[in-house]
Amino acid sequence: MAAIHMKRLVKRYGDTEVIPSLDLEIRDQEFMVFVGPSGCGKSTLLRIVAGLEPVDGGELYIGDERVNDVPPSRRDIAMVFQDYALYPHMSVYDNMAFGLEMRRTPRAEIDRRVKRAAELLRIEQYLKRRPGALSGGQRQRVAMGRAMVRNPKVFLFDEPLSNLDAKLRTEVRTEIKALSQELKTTMIFVTHDQVEAMTMADRIVVLDKGVIQQVGTPDQVYGEP
Ligand code: ADP
Ligand code: ADP
Repeated sequence: MAAIHMKRLVKRYGDTEVIPSLDLEIRDQEFMVFVGPSGCGKSTLLRIVAGLEPVDGGELYIGDERVNDVPPSRRDIAMVFQDYALYPHMSVYDNMAFGLEMRRTPRAEIDRRVKRAAELLRIEQYLKRRPGALSGGQRQRVAMGRAMVRNPKVFLFDEPLSNLDAKLRTEVRTEIKALSQELKTTMIFVTHDQVEAMTMADRIVVLDKGVIQQVGTPDQVYGEP
């Protein structure tokens, strides 16, 4: 069964149809990358999967559940944002724990998950700091950790590396790819960077004006004919 299934998905902003009718299946444990020019609808599509944007037509399935009317908090997904969206007044630990506290996860379980994620992301020594006292790469890892502690079935990334310098970008890219293999989860990763797409993707979706131009492996999309 597909991890995500979009059937004739439609999205409008006012009179503008930014996604006219989109069909796509994303496989279980697949690393799927959405690429395309600015404004082509990558972010909108990701926000639709997250439940942050309603759809105007079609159907969206996560696993075998139709989620058109399911709120974000009840979808088995976690999103990592470009600007990290961390709470500046909270410690790294509390930033990672917050979502679980809202769900009334038992304290010991929260502690276990936060420490496990911090260890995997190598940020254990920063748990008491506030985000403002961290580097961009460390903040990015906290944002990743906050998503990881939820043990989601699907991770959504909205250009998560674009605020990092070139060296860090390569490093974090490699880490996210390794994590995806270790966690055995489905990943949807939005970028406008072709190198990111080629090195991370199992398959790439090329979007233009809300329409899929191509779906295939990096070789199929970018390779020589
Ligand atoms: P991308 O992520 O590929 O850059 P977006 O998904 O952000 O593209 O945007 C797709 C199109 O939808 C663009 O034309 C953008 O201007 C428009 N759009 C995105 N969000 C809104 C919104 N909240 N209201 C109106 N138009 C929007
Ligand atoms: P991105 O490409 O990363 O989505 P944008 O600058 O296009 O960045 O969009 C930033 C935010 O503004 C997004 O939440 C998007 O939904 C919203 N947005 C984008 N285009 C429009 C628009 N034309 N009208 C209103 N909101 C928009």
